[in-house]
Parts: sequence; structure tokens; C-alpha cells
Amino acid sequence: MNFQLSERVFSVLRGLGLGAESRDMTKKERGAFVDVELGRRYPNPPIPLDHSDSYTLLVAVLLSAQCTDVRVNKTTPALWELADNPAEMAEVPVEEIRAIIRPCGLSPRKSQAIRDLSRILMDEHGGEVPGNFEDLEVLPGVGHKTASVVMSQAYGHPAFPVDTHIHRLAQRWGLTNGKNVEQTERDLKALFPKSRWNALHLQIIFYGREHCTARGCDGTVCPICRELYPRRKSPVKTRK
Ligand code: SF4
Repeated sequence: MNFQLSERVFSVLRGLGLGAESRDMTKKERGAFVDVELGRRYPNPPIPLDHSDSYTLLVAVLLSAQCTDVRVNKTTPALWELADNPAEMAEVPVEEIRAIIRPCGLSPRKSQAIRDLSRILMDEHGGEVPGNFEDLEVLPGVGHKTASVVMSQAYGHPAFPVDTHIHRLAQRWGLTNGKNVEQTERDLKALFPKSRWNALHLQIIFYGREHCTARGCDGTVCPICRELYPRRKSPVKTRK
């Protein structure tokens, strides 16, 4: 069911008193509502990590592990001063990288990974960041989520990177039982059309940061849950 149609359907259903008020939405309807609502709130979601090309995006995403995008964006200008391409970064002593990226945390592991992946890009990929999951996910410090961000944001390839925000909100909105991020990614990919994945994962992140934080919520405070669970009158324990 396309989403413009679903929004019209919801308002008609409501008009006939058959809609959301009288019953909770199905998972598919919740997905449809979330997609329309987040598309309305964040029509052109910007990429949160500052970068100038696929290499600086890859390094910035690697640095964002267990760190905020704000802190990464404060740290990377000094790193790019040192080197902003794999050819130069491959020649930089790890200690120099580490000294700059220390504010992002896990600096021993991250600095080694940045230097080593830069050498692999030079030795095996002609200095280019590969545009496929297979080659990306074997690079040091690069897992499936990082590879998904690069494929989606640097190469426009449909992907649904699941970070803590997306994992949390997808559970709160009943879009997945989310035992783990792999399960959540599978459920979201099954629920939303491929054409929406790249924008939607950013839109969910922005909503999570702005409204639906990890600090917990009783599931009644904002319009999204009120629409998804119209019969929810009392607070519920939401997932962290
Ligand atoms: S009501 Fe709470 S849990 Fe539901 S979307 Fe809003 S902030 Fe998130």
C-alpha cells in the first residue's frame, strides 16, 4: 500500500470511526504512519557526520562507534589537517592519529584501524573506498553498520544501518521485537520499500535524538505513539 494512499485511508477510517481510535494499528499500518509522519517532519534529512568524500565519511563513521556525531564533527577537522586521504593517512604514525582522535574514545583501536584500512585501500583498492559490502566489511574497524552507512550515504545504495536510536524506536513503535540489531534490520527492510531506506534511517535517528531518547518514556507523551496506540491510556514501560 503506498503511503500517500495510507494517509488518506487513515483519515477516511477515522472519519467512519473505523480507524485507529477503534483499534490499534497493525504493524504494516504503524510502518505506514511512521513513514508518512517522519517524511513530513524531516523531508530532506542531512547526513549528520561532516565529510567531503567516501574516505572521510568512512573514517568519520568508524570514529562514531560509541561516540556522538557532534563530538566526531568537532574532532575530524584536526584529523583532516593531518591527512584527509588514504595515501597520506597510510604514512602517518598511529600515535599521531591517536592523539587527535582521543576525544572520540576507543582511540588505540580506532587509530590502528584508520591507519591499517588506509594502507589496505592503497594496496588493494587503488586508494578508493570500495562500493560493495563484501570488501568494506573486511576492512579493519568496519562492521556491517559502518558499511551500510557508507553504501547508503556515499554511494546511494539502499541500506538500513541500525544504530542504537533505530533499534530503540523500532521496538517502541512495535515495528520489530528487536532481539538484536540484525533482527531489527531484517524487520525494517521487510516493512518499508527499498526506495525509503536511505532517508528513513536518518529520519528515525533525528526523531530519536529530538523526541524519543534513551532516557526512557512512558509511551504516551508524543503524537507518534498516540497515533500508533490510540487505545493506550496509561503509561507503559518502553524499551531503552
Ligand atoms: S511517546 Fe515516547 S516512546 Fe513513543 S514515540 Fe514518543 S517519545 Fe518515543
